[in-house]
Amino acid sequence: MDERLQDILDTVQKTAVEMSSAAGELFTAAGQKASSLLSVSKLNVRAADLKAQRAALLQEVGSMVYGTHTGAVADSDTLLAKLREIDVVNQELDKIDAEIARLRQSVRVCPLCGADAKPGDAFCRHCGTHL
Ligand SMILES: [Zn+2]
Repeated sequence: MDERLQDILDTVQKTAVEMSSAAGELFTAAGQKASSLLSVSKLNVRAADLKAQRAALLQEVGSMVYGTHTGAVADSDTLLAKLREIDVVNQELDKIDAEIARLRQSVRVCPLCGADAKPGDAFCRHCGTHL
């Protein structure tokens, strides 16, 4: 393996634990603001945005790692910052998945006719009212 690449990978591994806890703190602060009252569809839109953001970040990280192989000067600070962003995105996606699961499992009742709604129903099965 390239020596430079090995250096970068060593640095990345050393900071992995510290980064994930920092990302967790950052996320907790942001997540508490956003949380509840978001519909499943809004959460899905947010998740799609985050996945696109993560794909772009992963592509940048891949380019940087490949750059070390072709002799580009490695900037491990920039690489670490990108990895940290990916950590935050991943944690936010986990939170969104959990929130979607929670919303889908919660038992609801139609506000108009009182019929029980099944998990995931957008409309009442009895009267068609939007839930
Ligand atoms: Zn109903």
